[in-house]
Amino acid sequence: MKSLEVLCPSSSPFHWRNRGRSGTQNRIEMLIPSMAMLQHACSVPLIRLVGTRSRSFTIIASRSVSPIASPAVASKMDSRVLLGMSEQELQQLAVDLGQQTYRGKQLHHLIYQRKIKEIQDFSQLPQAFRNGLHEAGWSVGRSLVHSTVKAADGTVKLLLKLEDNRLIETVGIPVGDEKGPIRLTACVSSQVGCPLRCSFCATGKGGYSRNLKQHEIVEQVLAIEETFEHRVTNVVFMGMGEPMLNLKSVLEAHRCLNKDIQIGQRMITISTVGVPNTIRKLAAHKLQSTLAVSLHAPNQKLRETIVPSARSYPLDAIMKDCKDYFLQTSRRVSFEYALLAGVNDRVEHAIELADLLREGGSGYHVNLIPFNPIEGSEYKRPSKKAVQAFVGALESRKVTVSVRQTRGLDASAACGQLRNKFQKTPLLSTSDDPRLQSDLAVAC
Ligand code: SF4
Repeated sequence: MKSLEVLCPSSSPFHWRNRGRSGTQNRIEMLIPSMAMLQHACSVPLIRLVGTRSRSFTIIASRSVSPIASPAVASKMDSRVLLGMSEQELQQLAVDLGQQTYRGKQLHHLIYQRKIKEIQDFSQLPQAFRNGLHEAGWSVGRSLVHSTVKAADGTVKLLLKLEDNRLIETVGIPVGDEKGPIRLTACVSSQVGCPLRCSFCATGKGGYSRNLKQHEIVEQVLAIEETFEHRVTNVVFMGMGEPMLNLKSVLEAHRCLNKDIQIGQRMITISTVGVPNTIRKLAAHKLQSTLAVSLHAPNQKLRETIVPSARSYPLDAIMKDCKDYFLQTSRRVSFEYALLAGVNDRVEHAIELADLLREGGSGYHVNLIPFNPIEGSEYKRPSKKAVQAFVGALESRKVTVSVRQTRGLDASAACGQLRNKFQKTPLLSTSDDPRLQSDLAVAC
């Protein structure tokens, strides 16, 4: 039994490093059964609507001033959020508001390097410019950190409260030595909830609310950097949601992370359980990022029992699209495989998986994820012996394989506690939500 600390700003005055707030921390010590790894990406549990108003909600709700006319920033007008804009767009915005071009460069620095969250705190800029931004309805677009969960090994999970009061999770995973982190990975969400309902996944069990906007993805990385006081070196789109169902915002966020926050494309991984036509769309962008496909089974029949959405995207079609992705981008595809005891973890499954990969071509890597049971799950964690046998069967067939390491935050513990604490209102189910139906129709 290990101890996990939850810092909860919503129920008490909160102080977290440079947030500039005073007061005492509200510490809740919880006992959890294990501090296992951050398991599959997509198994980050669901956080639902919280019924209190946030400061960011107030700012955005007050945007009623007519938009600025510049075509260069026209596409941003509906939201008028600075976060996510390129340096060029910010320069054009400065000019539109009667400033010189270099003021846009300063804006870029204040948003992405200094990570300042409120326009009134841009003290380097003239008051008239700040007033102009306010009057035109612009905001930085940063959300409040609603709460923070920190594990003993340094892994941190943040809940961010969005403009509509929904909560999303983002995880910071440091790897370092005694001098501090040398690698810091941000595991970001792309949707609030997830409509795909994979059978082992707490997020999938909880339903779906909406896609995240570009700035809501980008701000997760800035929030992790702020929390750790260290730059994020790697980003994995493996948090809540299916990135390929929100590909437009994911690609916009990818651009911003790469160009504005200066995270190398090779340091970014986009994960998918498979949505028809989207791997090809992604390949056409020729990104130098890693595509991680969550297989979880070596054949179609078994896969459909674990990943219900597999019915609309047969395994052979996925493998063909992965082969084309490799040919177009020269980037190795990584296959995620959650090992579920007695379901897909036998040596014959490993042999079948190796055969599947051999037929698909080269350039593949398998990442095995021994399942960590979540509350109410019908699945169990495989034994070490079963994992070793699975690895051995793949390696003897010349498949490169790694086993994801155990990390300090266990979805079933830390996040289960958070969910119990904060989930008040259920998300919409797939059948309730006409927006979701249209999202799926577009994607498929
Ligand atoms: S795609 Fe599947 S595993 Fe990923 S968040 Fe959605 S339900 Fe969970």
